[in-house]
Amino acid sequence: MDIFIVFYFIAIVVEMAIRVPISRKQRKEPKSNRSVTTQEKVLLGLLFLAMFFVPIFYVATPWLDFANYSLPTWAGWLGVIILAGALAVFWRAHADLGLNWSPTLEIREKHELITRGIYGVIRHPMYASQWLWVIAQPLLLQNWIAGWLNLLVFILFYSLRVRAEEQLMLEQFGDQYRSYMQKVGAVLPKF
Ligand code: SAH
Repeated sequence: MDIFIVFYFIAIVVEMAIRVPISRKQRKEPKSNRSVTTQEKVLLGLLFLAMFFVPIFYVATPWLDFANYSLPTWAGWLGVIILAGALAVFWRAHADLGLNWSPTLEIREKHELITRGIYGVIRHPMYASQWLWVIAQPLLLQNWIAGWLNLLVFILFYSLRVRAEEQLMLEQFGDQYRSYMQKVGAVLPKF
């Protein structure tokens, strides 16, 4: 198997190792505001498909091979570097957000607005990490479907999710979140 495909799946295992312990703990947390919509569930399902299921299908079967392309080796290594950056940001964001993290939009009873650590640099480090991931994916999985589908899905997810999430944060934290938005950029730092 291609070394870059191996790196892709190692990165998936690393993300799971970061997320699973937090996910287990946060499930037990009492929530004061659950607003899980069908649209959110569908988008999360599509992300799972594009990030995990389609790449597995791509390596396990020859069905998608008709859509393969081949990039120079340096492009694959660039993908590895970008992916490593994505993992570093992903890890830091989980360490700083802790139990305030949730897969869908939720406010827990003891929800705290985090503005420290990486959240003092950007407001959406997990989504920034996912941007890096979807840019790296077509460099590592050199296939028009397995490489690019996640980018398309994430553009849709990001544009719908961030607006809803910031609305929820504004309802919950009001002026505190408003001034946080003025000071700190969404996925790129403000200078
Ligand atoms: N958008 C953030 C968090 C994604 S997890 C990121 O990209 O890192 C989604 C949950 O995080 C939402 O349900 C919301 O309640 C919570 N959240 C988002 N920003 C937060 C912040 N600054 N402090 C505390 N919770 C936050």
